[in-house]
Amino acid sequence: MKMAVRLVLLTFAICRLIVTVGFTVLPTELQSQLSVDNSEVEAASVDFGMLDKGEPLAVMHPGSADDIAQLVRAAYEGGFSVSARGHGHSINGQGLIKRGTKGVVIDMGSKKGVGSVCEKGMYVDVWGGELWINVLKATLQYGLAPMSWTDYLYLSVGGTLSNAGISGQAFHHGPQISNVHQLDVVTGKGEVLTCSEESNSELFHAVLGGLGQFGIITRARIALEPAPQRVRWIRVLYSNFAKFTKDQEYLISVEGNKERLDYIEGFVIVDEGLINNWRSSFFSPSNPVKISSLNKNADGGVLYCLEFTKNYHQHQADSIDQEIEALLIKLDFIPASVFTTDLPYVDFLDRVHKAELKLRSKGLWEVPHPWLNLFVPKSRIVDFDKGVFKGILGNKTSGPILIYPMNKDKWDQRNSVVTPEEDVFYLVAFLRSALDDEALEYLSDQNRRILAFCNDAEINAKQYLPHYTTQQEWMDHFGDRWDQFYSRKMQFDPRRILATGQRIFEFHP
Ligand code: FAD
Repeated sequence: MKMAVRLVLLTFAICRLIVTVGFTVLPTELQSQLSVDNSEVEAASVDFGMLDKGEPLAVMHPGSADDIAQLVRAAYEGGFSVSARGHGHSINGQGLIKRGTKGVVIDMGSKKGVGSVCEKGMYVDVWGGELWINVLKATLQYGLAPMSWTDYLYLSVGGTLSNAGISGQAFHHGPQISNVHQLDVVTGKGEVLTCSEESNSELFHAVLGGLGQFGIITRARIALEPAPQRVRWIRVLYSNFAKFTKDQEYLISVEGNKERLDYIEGFVIVDEGLINNWRSSFFSPSNPVKISSLNKNADGGVLYCLEFTKNYHQHQADSIDQEIEALLIKLDFIPASVFTTDLPYVDFLDRVHKAELKLRSKGLWEVPHPWLNLFVPKSRIVDFDKGVFKGILGNKTSGPILIYPMNKDKWDQRNSVVTPEEDVFYLVAFLRSALDDEALEYLSDQNRRILAFCNDAEINAKQYLPHYTTQQEWMDHFGDRWDQFYSRKMQFDPRRILATGQRIFEFHP
């Protein structure tokens, strides 16, 4: 849309506000924070997925939570929508403003802020648009760090808390939304509320995993623990899926917890190559086993890699080898397929950024990403393996496939995110890149087939980072939690102006 047209539309929306609420002018400070500059609007019209294109009227660069509240009140009165944008790393336009609908994107990243760390209370207060990498750097200055992570740290606090925020620590600490003490939230009515388990708890739980539907997180109080110095990182390979999942499930069990592991993940190896294994660079040429030779002998040509870590301090370095050796004896992986590395804690947590830089240098980062993330109940993971990894997938996967189990009791059921109805469920993440239109069509079709397979086989999987286009699909996704989700929406954002890019509720200006 031409800049001039956009300006007219924005002015129209603002004029409507002026007429409605009787302001003579919007506060100058607020006006100066709204940009209709083409390059900024363009940047706020796309996300990491590159599958969808939005078109906001303007982009706001807020200086405070109050600025955001003023804009939301203006939207509430004036009939335009508002979407917070963390780091724009959604896949399906969840943070965008749909074309043809009037709306403003709030660039949460334009303000920075990791507040001071409270060592006594073991928490840190951070601005909702802050990146996790900066939270890590700031807390490490105090020898502390958050407990639950995502694999990639260039994501905003508000963005991951709106979903769940998961990585290999989730089996033990739960997702990031289980590790937050308090939030400041601007609701869809423009109120600024502090909420926690004790105060405004309905809003607190609604917002955590709430897909941006109930309010904009401007501050989060995140739980901390003493940070380790180093990480021993182990990978072992399996050709037998049952043995692989048995070991993964043992490691996350109460019994396995005695091994004191800090991170448990895994991935599926269908074939090799940079695009398929960009997260897995530590299979070095000096490895004792060539993966390609194992692949050929694997059941259905598929290999599974279990990975785990043990964090430690320098003074524990002597015992770490023995601890790992004692643990490996209990696992049933392919003999001699042990890959070990050891690195500083920060380097481990920030590992995916290295892969990002490598892909960027080859022009392989800014391409369409038809990702699919599913939570699969433990009782059906073998069927999923047969039907998908050894069936639908073939050998053209175009990206890493993660698979790791989590314990449902670490997920607070009062939060908005939905997970399968079993004590243990797996994340299965297809993190694919489409290098041309044909690949995009092929991979998108494969995603559709995987979802259809889950449906037909009644696997009862739930999408993580969900994407649907009709309200009926959203109702099916939430199941018996839909009524609660809906009534929370009516309570906190009755005019449905927030995060319309999720396509859950229709916005009528
Ligand atoms: P955006 O895409 O900007 O926003 C996402 C949604 O949240 C939008 O609806 C938006 O309106 C809303 N939102 C944003 N900020 C706020 C706020 N302050 N208050 C309220 N609502 C808000 N996820 C994991 O759990 N684990 C991983 O390991 C992981 N790895 C990833 C790796 C990569 C390379 C990428 C691209 C994504 C990964 N994700 C992972 C997914 C990621 O957590 C989500 O896509 C997340 O939403 C991205 O954060 P963002 O700040 O970019 O959010």
